[in-house]
Amino acid sequence: MSFAELGLSPKLLEAIAKAGYETPTPIQEQAIPPATEGRDVLGIAQTGTGKTASFTLPMIERLSKGRARARMPRSLVLAPTRELAAQVAENFEKYGINHKLSMALLIGGVSFGDQDAKLTRGVDVLIATPGRLLDHFERGRLLLTGIEVMVIDEADRMLDMGFIPDIEKIFKLTPITRQTLFFSATMPPEIQRITDQFLHNPVRVEV
Ligand code: AMP
Repeated sequence: MSFAELGLSPKLLEAIAKAGYETPTPIQEQAIPPATEGRDVLGIAQTGTGKTASFTLPMIERLSKGRARARMPRSLVLAPTRELAAQVAENFEKYGINHKLSMALLIGGVSFGDQDAKLTRGVDVLIATPGRLLDHFERGRLLLTGIEVMVIDEADRMLDMGFIPDIEKIFKLTPITRQTLFFSATMPPEIQRITDQFLHNPVRVEV
């Protein structure tokens, strides 16, 4: 199967070719079509499978229409560590090269003031670790009521790090109409409970 057959637009196909990718990986093949159609996706996949592109590509496609408003990010990616969040941001930069999407990174070690200025201008893609995101939220610096797409990356690592209460809190701050793309390498009962509670009729993809 080719990337073109997954229903991605020419602008994205060009960015994918520039990244040097020739064929989609199995998780990309299975997750991109339902995600592009707006379905919730539960992806059970390890790092190294190409899972990051399986959520960034459909998100870029969806966010290419519409505009961000001040302090109301349109999408949110939660990652367990700042390193992982930074990697996700690099992916958005690489695949989003032909799109004018604004992005902000809310992680430890990145200047609060710079990120806050970006939030004021409006952000299409907000990438964050859960604690930092709630920190900005509790200071009244952003609203999550405009979230169209939310991604949880490496949910089982979030569980190991004690982030599940934060994740639940964040889910409840986003609109019920959001699309959710949820990734975990394993499905322990606590993660299963979260997906049962917050995902709407998800397409389950396992590689
Ligand atoms: P990930 O599992 O998202 O961390 O991706 C693992 C690595 O695979 C990254 O270095 C990606 O740049 C690379 N990658 C992702 N998708 C593809 C693809 N379709 N073809 C070749 N490499 C890819």
